[in-house]
Amino acid sequence: MANERPRILTGDTPTGSLHLGHWVGSVKRRVQLQDSHDCYFILANMHAFTTRVQQPEGIRRDCIEIVRDYLAMGIDPRKAVIFLQSEVPAIAELCFLFAMLLPFNRVMRNPTLKDEIKIKGLGENYSFGFPLYAVGQTADILAFRPVGVPVGEDQVPHLELTREVARRFNQVFCGVDEHAEDDDHVKLGGVFPVPRAEVGKVGRLMGIDGVNKMSKSLGNAIFIADPAKEVEKKVKKIFTGRQSPTEPGDTSNALFQYVEAFIEDQARVAELKDRYSRGDNLGDGHVKAEVAQELNRLLEPMRQRRAQYEGDDAPILAILKDGCERANALTEQTLAMAKDAAKLITFPRTLRPR
Ligand code: ATP
Ligand code: MG
Repeated sequence: MANERPRILTGDTPTGSLHLGHWVGSVKRRVQLQDSHDCYFILANMHAFTTRVQQPEGIRRDCIEIVRDYLAMGIDPRKAVIFLQSEVPAIAELCFLFAMLLPFNRVMRNPTLKDEIKIKGLGENYSFGFPLYAVGQTADILAFRPVGVPVGEDQVPHLELTREVARRFNQVFCGVDEHAEDDDHVKLGGVFPVPRAEVGKVGRLMGIDGVNKMSKSLGNAIFIADPAKEVEKKVKKIFTGRQSPTEPGDTSNALFQYVEAFIEDQARVAELKDRYSRGDNLGDGHVKAEVAQELNRLLEPMRQRRAQYEGDDAPILAILKDGCERANALTEQTLAMAKDAAKLITFPRTLRPR
């Protein structure tokens, strides 16, 4: 199509509501891109089963709550497509095919998988589906043939795997030369573009524990929907380990990551950093109060928007239904192209939602 805009795909796993890490790591960028790009936002609900197989109700509820969070943060469903992974069958079909292109050891070498196994305490007892989700994510992305994927830093290894799958598919099934530049793959007949990870300025916001990345599953998050008082309470808990306001402070700590990420006045940021690092009678409590104030300034309009969508699930489900139809229209095309390239015998089919 002549007037096609560049496409992006990104999304979230329904393992809880969205938090400030999502805002700085991905959603803020999505809100900007929805005006210039064709945007597809996936709720990876099948992947949520990797860690929540006992909580199907929770996964269902979080899908709906995340859409509310999206709307609160400014994602506009008339511009962007919000859809459920489980309602887009082409993704599962591509996952099967892509799994054949990746050596098992290569999947298991993924540092994000290793970190998750450790941090989430999965031990030796994770399901077969757990490592499979990394392959699934390559299908989530490539089904949309996007040019870019706006994500936090932790997703970069997944994107690297995705890029490898795209290259390998194009080489094996589409005759693209193994020395071809990534940007030339489609021009040379490849089905899949080799998509870029687009990591924002804050690729990894720390949690209030001051140790791990802010994460829905780790109990260290400030949520978009938290009331103002809760935000203040959580900010007070940000761990720095500093003892007194006259002790020279380390401005690479979690608290100062919040200062840099959320206080807009750059002169004030510089002043705080200077005084903190010199131990110039600037207590953590004072810095935390300023951070909490800025956060509530950011979150208040989001809370107000969110309040409009509270209560009735029907409008949220309507957004998802429309999104799934639009996602299927595109991914069925991708799947047909991929099956063709892989020489599978295919018969035309149409998905007909009622
Ligand atoms: P889980 O604990 O279930 O893994 P999560 O909080 O890591 O949840 P995801 O759904 O895995 O959230 O991630 C969705 C998107 O948000 C990804 O692009 C991810 O990189 C980004 N993201 C998540 N947490 C952060 C963070 N703390 N800083 C920056 N980006 C983040
Ligand atoms: Mg995660």
